[in-house]
Amino acid sequence: MKRADAAPLAIYDTLSREVREVRASDGKAVRIYCCGPTVYRDAHIGNLRTFLLADLVRRSLEFSGIKVKLVQNITDVGHMSEDFEEDKMIAAAKVEKRDPYSIAREYEDRFHKDCAALNIKPADLYPRASECIELMIDSINNLMAKGFAYQGEDGSVYFDSTKFESYGALSGNRLDALKPGHRYEFTEAGAKRFHADWALWKAAGERKEMIWDTPWGRGFPGWHIECSAMSLKYLAGKVDLHIGGIDLRFPHHENERAQSNPLIAGSGEEAVTLWLHGEHLLFEGRKMSKSSGNVILIKDVVARGLDPISLRFCFMENRYRSQMDLSWSSIQAAHNLLERWRKSYQEWLGDSALHSSRVAALVTEIAQEFGDDLDTPQAILKLRTIERSEFSAGEKRALFEALDPLFGLNLLELRATKSLPDEARALLEARAKARAERDFKSSDSLREQLAILGIEVRDTADGQEWSWRVN
Ligand code: AMP
Ligand code: ZN
Repeated sequence: MKRADAAPLAIYDTLSREVREVRASDGKAVRIYCCGPTVYRDAHIGNLRTFLLADLVRRSLEFSGIKVKLVQNITDVGHMSEDFEEDKMIAAAKVEKRDPYSIAREYEDRFHKDCAALNIKPADLYPRASECIELMIDSINNLMAKGFAYQGEDGSVYFDSTKFESYGALSGNRLDALKPGHRYEFTEAGAKRFHADWALWKAAGERKEMIWDTPWGRGFPGWHIECSAMSLKYLAGKVDLHIGGIDLRFPHHENERAQSNPLIAGSGEEAVTLWLHGEHLLFEGRKMSKSSGNVILIKDVVARGLDPISLRFCFMENRYRSQMDLSWSSIQAAHNLLERWRKSYQEWLGDSALHSSRVAALVTEIAQEFGDDLDTPQAILKLRTIERSEFSAGEKRALFEALDPLFGLNLLELRATKSLPDEARALLEARAKARAERDFKSSDSLREQLAILGIEVRDTADGQEWSWRVN
């Protein structure tokens, strides 16, 4: 039984390893920071699963009337690739033979479009790393003044991990267990005092692009400092909830915590109250990677004629804390289900919405599933029962209308999502013509050809209808 004064949302906090209530520390709005994309390539649907997590939190809180302020950074400098020890943006610029900033703006724009395709509400602010360099320099100066950072012989500035007593609390890594030479970002030959220290600022060396002047010489920021600097600046010194994918727990968030805590005024306080991590998405049993050839983008989903909101549905059918395996057939099944529900809703519109007490009770129950550490699988199970339930059409209508802002599944719209490859379109047209001419032999053969393309055709009183076949 929930306490009367319980917050509407509780989540599993990685730092305390407990489910804790999400609260606005200033009593006004819950301040959320979600690590954003590195804009040297398209976000894949795994990245989007993590970005959706912030949207689920936001919708759950807003549904209960709680205000949210969400900041998400755009990393367009300083994220070093583990494989090549090269800035990901500059590496992409070399491959594409373009200016890194123009690449960044293009992928940033696509990131916003992909989020919109999943009904992820925009953050309140998207600060770009390249435009927050002064902020990072101030933070680094501050850390140096407080004795948490030093300049190495190579000119780079390092965070002194031995000065931050609880280093490792977030990820469970202990300083003495982190072996010298372990690679978790990029190596700094010999300039660090201690193997677990990391660069806050890298000396430019041979690098000619994306570098800035600082009191310690020319260079560029390390990856972790951007999130400390931006989150504390744009959320006014306190983050109520910090969100990211599970791989960011270490070293990114561990290092961010070590940087941010000394930057806030009260010593011993946590700059971030709660840490929320989403598990990874697999596709057809494997980690999404270029080498496996299974990196799936929103545009791949759209190219198959599938509504990207089906992806949102699939993600919600799985708890954020579990690794999830996705397949084309589950996206297809979600697509078909959503289409059916949307059609049913159009039929229920013939009745006026009936806000009965049992409607209100179900809405509350579903909102509580979201509040219970985002138990969206349970919430979806309850949503599934509505269509074929004993509720009247007016009640079903009222339920869909009340719940759509929470689920974000566009249940109230009939969507024109039937985008078809040209070949299939031509076959469908030929089949409709064959039927009109009562040439059933041709129409059956065309049906078989369409089946090979994964398309199922049904003949109804209103003519032929098609859908993508579920395997
Ligand atoms: P990136 O653009 O690589 O910096 O990643 C953006 C976000 O996606 C981070 O929060 C990552 O933790 C997250 N992420 C990366 N791969 C996956 C995956 N396969 N499933 C879910 N989230 C992921
Ligand atoms: Zn971050």
